[in-house]
Amino acid sequence: MTSSEHAPLEEGPSKGLDQISLLSSDERLKGRPRLCSDCGFCDSSLKHLMSQTCTFVRNQTPVIEQRLHGRTRVGREELLFGIHRAMYAARMARPNPQAQWTGMVTALGARLLEHQRVEAVITTGAAPGTRFKAQPILARTPREVLATAGNKPCLSPSLNLIDAVREQGIKRLAVIGTGCQVHQLRAAEAQLGLERLDVIGIPCSDNVSYPDLEYFLTQVSRSPQTIVHHEFMQDFRLWMRHEDGHVEHLNFIDFPMDRLHGIFPSSCLSCFDYPTSLSDLTIGYMGAELGWQWVMVRTQAGEELFELLRPDLEIGELTESGDRTRGMPRYLERLSLPPGQSRPPWPIRKLVAWLQRTRGPKGLEFARAVIEMKLFRNLNYIRSKFPSFEERVVPDHVYEALQPYAPLYTQAFSRPLSRTQPPAAGARAEGG
Ligand SMILES: Cc1cc2nc3c(=O)[nH]c(=O)nc-3n(C[C@H](O)[C@H](O)[C@H](O)COP(=O)(O)OP(=O)(O)OC[C@H]3O[C@@H](n4cnc5c(N)ncnc54)[C@H](O)[C@@H]3O)c2cc1C
Repeated sequence: MTSSEHAPLEEGPSKGLDQISLLSSDERLKGRPRLCSDCGFCDSSLKHLMSQTCTFVRNQTPVIEQRLHGRTRVGREELLFGIHRAMYAARMARPNPQAQWTGMVTALGARLLEHQRVEAVITTGAAPGTRFKAQPILARTPREVLATAGNKPCLSPSLNLIDAVREQGIKRLAVIGTGCQVHQLRAAEAQLGLERLDVIGIPCSDNVSYPDLEYFLTQVSRSPQTIVHHEFMQDFRLWMRHEDGHVEHLNFIDFPMDRLHGIFPSSCLSCFDYPTSLSDLTIGYMGAELGWQWVMVRTQAGEELFELLRPDLEIGELTESGDRTRGMPRYLERLSLPPGQSRPPWPIRKLVAWLQRTRGPKGLEFARAVIEMKLFRNLNYIRSKFPSFEERVVPDHVYEALQPYAPLYTQAFSRPLSRTQPPAAGARAEGG
């Protein structure tokens, strides 16, 4: 099935530029709180727990970390990446061509079923007739998990399968999920009635609703309907692979942000868990060199999961180079400008893109750079759009992680980084 059967929206984002709302005009979502990533939990019979378990109501990361690890974060690396006991560059020795990277995530899900460690895996497939529309799947066989390889780069209501898990009497479950989904699961873990819960995290940032994904692709590609795979790569470019195999590139700095800033849900702009830190292990790519995947093993269960997959893996080396702090003054300066005004003219963009590619941070330093930038951007978003939420939604480790830049922050935003100070005059209170 080709995506060309579904004409992308070209007229604009589904919820209107700069509208502060959850994500789209989807009827199903009417009545939800404004900060909602449609993780699916509220479609389940456990909905009544949402006010105690949703990360956008109260971020409980430190409490959950204390429960999982017996401690909270220590040191600069954990402040950014979350608690982990080991970190690897790895890839499948025989990569799955359908996978987003090499297929470690779906291979692990399949392996858990093969070894009968779990009875089912919650994973995300594509809705029939589409390439990228997320459809949660309760996979009971390795083949069903493998069939969900590849990103569906839009919000997935995966936790709406909780009721099916209970109805089918499943007691040992694995879930493949993003930060908001995993926070929700961990916070409700005691109420799920499970004997085992294995959580495979994937890093996630700037997700969008499906209609907005279609719109996004029309804005960044010359041929949006033929894209079969795309990824925000470590060389500061979006790579889009097309049906005929050619790969189109767009520098991050060339994104038409004046036409895009309305597409990101308020929830994703209020998320402080890019590396999905409450998982048993997180499998992404951005801390590894091109061609490798980045694994953070967090818990004892995560170690067991990694060992199950190890026979299928090549293990590489984690490297790092560059200095992420050099670009931060300019980034904060741009962040303090209204969207649209922050895009430099074309010759400067060309130079910046070249500098980013050749001199910019690489490997783990790239991961630190993008996580820090998203923490700043999202803190700024909460402070300007939902100031009354800051205390509940921004965990303490965010301020600690960004502390080295506190003077720069004050210079750019004319207010202290720390939350203990009152907001500057003029900050709008529009949350609800
Ligand atoms: C929206 C989004 C943004 C991401 N951003 C980053 C990033 O910035 N940095 C980074 O290092 N990694 C990011 N990732 C993860 C990364 O792109 C790969 O998914 C991950 O490295 C696994 O690759 P793989 O080849 O092992 O996965 P595969 O074996 O191909 O399996 C992919 C898995 O992803 C799951 N999945 C697909 N779509 C969704 C969805 N919408 N919601 C929840 N689960 C889904 C499927 O269940 C499947 O199990 C992102 C993923 C998504 C969905």
